[in-house]
Amino acid sequence: MKLARYRQHFRAKVIPKFYSAKLHIALFVFFEVSALVIAFSFVSWSLLSPLWVLLSVMWASTFLYITHRWFLHQKVPGFHWAFKMHHWHHTFYQAHDMEYDELNDVYMLLMPPWIQAIYYVVYLPLLAWVLSFILPVVFVPHLVFTLTLWYGLYELIHWIEHLPHTHLIMRFAWARSMKHHHVGHHHPKFKDSRNFGIVEPTQDYLWGSKL
Ligand SMILES: [Zn+2]
Ligand SMILES: [Zn+2]
Repeated sequence: MKLARYRQHFRAKVIPKFYSAKLHIALFVFFEVSALVIAFSFVSWSLLSPLWVLLSVMWASTFLYITHRWFLHQKVPGFHWAFKMHHWHHTFYQAHDMEYDELNDVYMLLMPPWIQAIYYVVYLPLLAWVLSFILPVVFVPHLVFTLTLWYGLYELIHWIEHLPHTHLIMRFAWARSMKHHHVGHHHPKFKDSRNFGIVEPTQDYLWGSKL
């Protein structure tokens, strides 16, 4: 009952009246697919590509873990807005009720459209430009492609983790296991200390935060 009241409050006070989940999803798919096509076109695939991609996955996984654990669960100067928005996510979705009631509730599930836009249009191109002066030229396009893919996977898998146990996709063991992992993170007792991995749990094993 308490959670139902919270959700009503968020819908009335936080979710903008003009918000459309369908538009938000369409925008995300447009950005993700376009960025993947563009990033892919810059990659010179070779026998060493699996190595570059593996290094990029380690980069993406570590970056996501650090951002989630230390920037979204702690008040870092300059990032209070991120802490607050993530706190909304944890208040709206709690371990005993991880699913949304209506499609517009994904406002509390996906990254806001303006962050998605900045990530694809400003962050990735800027990162590619800066890194091209520091890292091997062949590695940078592999990295940008993998970061684009990883972010898409992040949104997708996080969504899956918030689907009901009865959903068709829960027939896959990995989906059930990732949902279980993420439910642990949404438990009020463990949200600030355990299971920060969203796409996969490797970092939680490495940092000793696996529940
Ligand atoms: Zn979540
Ligand atoms: Zn969290």
